[in-house]
Amino acid sequence: MRANFRMQRLFVEMSLGAAARHEVSSEQFNYLANVLRLEDGAEVLVFNGRDGEWKTRVVFPSRKKIVLEAVEQTRPQPLPSDLHYLFAPLKVGRLDYLVQKAVEMGAGLLQPVMTQHVQGKITSMDRLQANVIEAAEQCGILAVPEVSQPKKLGDLLDHWPADRRIIFCDEGDEGQNPLPVLAGIKETKLALLVGPEGGFSDEERQRLRSLPFVTAIPLGPRILRADTAAVAALAVIQAAIGDWR
Ligand code: SAH
Repeated sequence: MRANFRMQRLFVEMSLGAAARHEVSSEQFNYLANVLRLEDGAEVLVFNGRDGEWKTRVVFPSRKKIVLEAVEQTRPQPLPSDLHYLFAPLKVGRLDYLVQKAVEMGAGLLQPVMTQHVQGKITSMDRLQANVIEAAEQCGILAVPEVSQPKKLGDLLDHWPADRRIIFCDEGDEGQNPLPVLAGIKETKLALLVGPEGGFSDEERQRLRSLPFVTAIPLGPRILRADTAAVAALAVIQAAIGDWR
């Protein structure tokens, strides 16, 4: 079910259910009262990543407080997406973009990966999480993706569960069309791996290509920037073997 985009949507930590009442944080108070200028009796949609989406009523018990009262469930909690997104961190501004777009495109878990030529780094897990929540609020995504601590590519591959296939965007691939390669994938547990701006090293590419649980794909005849490659790859994966079908 697609989301209702006429109403404001807010992520909350509280449990949601028929009689749920929740006093909002000072940050959310500021957003609801001063930015959106909502008044007593207004309605907003809330979600917590666990209990589906709920319509709530905005109540002001005093001038400085807002309580959200659950009215009814508007959408049930969906299963989380089983498409993991493994990415080499980019510099800060582009990293925000990359995280937001990956969430919009249906990544279910975000895993920063440190590769040999990586230039960016994760300076704040809170910032990553805030970008995930902002994208979920905006796009009506209820299964909020998890964000994992950064890992080295080698360590990740050493302990990789063999039943989850890694789709590796290989800028050195001889081909151009990813669709025939994707059509051959049998697994439903998937992970997408996109390299850093500097690309993968030869050693990394060789190791990835030698592993039984990795499939390399090309993304057309041009070299794409890492953030573009991620959106392009997520789109072709979702359309060919994912949740766009
Ligand atoms: N500096 C590298 C390009 C890196 S692009 C070079 O010039 O070769 C960043 C990442 O995006 C790559 O590591 C790869 O994962 C992905 N990517 C970009 N263009 C691609 C393409 N045409 N095919 C497959 N992957 C691509």
